[in-house]
Amino acid sequence: MGQIIACANQKGGVGKTTTVVNLSTYLALAGDAVLVIDLDPQGNTTSGFGLDRDEIRHSVYEAIIEDRRLSDLVVPTAIPGLSLVPSSISLAGAEVELAPLPQRERRLARILSELVDSYDYIVLDCPPSLGLLTVNALTAADAVVIPIQCEYYALEGLSQLIATINLVRNHLNPDLAIKGVVLTMYDPRTNLSAEVDAEVRKHLGPAVFDTVIPRSVRLSEAPSYGLPIALYRPDSKGAEAYAALAAELRERDGRPEPHARTASDESPSGVEGNREAGDGSSR
Ligand code: ATP
Ligand code: MG
Repeated sequence: MGQIIACANQKGGVGKTTTVVNLSTYLALAGDAVLVIDLDPQGNTTSGFGLDRDEIRHSVYEAIIEDRRLSDLVVPTAIPGLSLVPSSISLAGAEVELAPLPQRERRLARILSELVDSYDYIVLDCPPSLGLLTVNALTAADAVVIPIQCEYYALEGLSQLIATINLVRNHLNPDLAIKGVVLTMYDPRTNLSAEVDAEVRKHLGPAVFDTVIPRSVRLSEAPSYGLPIALYRPDSKGAEAYAALAAELRERDGRPEPHARTASDESPSGVEGNREAGDGSSR
């Protein structure tokens, strides 16, 4: 059975999307069957995988609001073994449209149950708020990954996020775990980054991943080419860091050693390809 991971932090611009795109890519390249779901109306994960948001005809909105089957909305990406359910701007209305619906917090969990056995990891990119879309993600998820940017107010808002996670645990999803906190945009030239690193580890201890994501121009450039860093600059520091993060996460999960899929593998990256990888090599 696949594991559902929500990448969440209501603070904007902390590296949620960059983490979802690149962590998911390296999980897929390690041989896991991965589905990414873009729950942010901004659609940065969708465009980060090279899909043109203006040409998206079907998005996760249709599943959440219109009860369409999620499996009908899955599209392949350029990464072998990695598929995507895109976002669209219509998702911006979903917060309001969800409000009067029955079981409004559980809609994503319900529609995901159909797909969870087809993947090793399902990774959810959340919008920068603690609204109903994020609550749906936390309710559907087995675990949450929290990116924290190495900046002055790094821990600001974290207590609110933890309080929301606890509320979801108490009322909707008692087994929700914190998979880990990942420090992003670390700049080794500044004392501030080192101070934030020490402070976050003091507060959160082993929940913090050993791997730290450095500030990297290459990471910030890659989305403008619609490419994960593994396809844009696989030798860059940012690429090495996300590969290490994926390896650390897989190790925490006791996943088998990677069978070294490469980004240029010719295997199909659609749903069928994912199913084959999930059933054959990685379980
Ligand atoms: P939002 O809350 O708006 O969804 P987010 O938390 O998803 O934002 P990202 O979009 O991943 O954050 O990152 C915010 C900006 O910082 C983007 O322009 C991204 O390219 C850049 N960025 C993210 N991580 C890094 C990094 N390690 N080094 C340099 N730039 C980065
Ligand atoms: Mg984002």
